[in-house]
Amino acid sequence: MALTPGQTDELRGMIEERRRALQAELHEGIDRAREDSFEDLAGPAPDAGDESVATLIGDIDHADVSRDMAELRALDAARGRLEDGSYGVCADCGSEIEYERLKAAPAAFRCIGCQRLHEKTYASPSGPSL
Ligand SMILES: [Zn+2]
Repeated sequence: MALTPGQTDELRGMIEERRRALQAELHEGIDRAREDSFEDLAGPAPDAGDESVATLIGDIDHADVSRDMAELRALDAARGRLEDGSYGVCADCGSEIEYERLKAAPAAFRCIGCQRLHEKTYASPSGPSL
């Protein structure tokens, strides 16, 4: 069943809200990264131990930021599909994506069946993509 205008509006709202939250998170992350620059974390004359801790923290922040960026890009793509009317249609098989699935993952661009198949085919340790 195709999405009703009300359902589309609801999903659009969820996408906008999530985008705002992510953007705020990213800005916070960037601010934090500026404050906690490598020198601050490691001190002016770091020994090997401090240095590796700073490197580790840097890596964690970077992973967070990449994940947020990836989600933001997925949400932007979903917005584009809302605009051109292809939202809620599976990119692989062209059938309609279930409303319940979109509510759980508004940026989803595959139906459940194709997503399962995709995850089986392209299983990766980083977990399922949207
Ligand atoms: Zn499909």
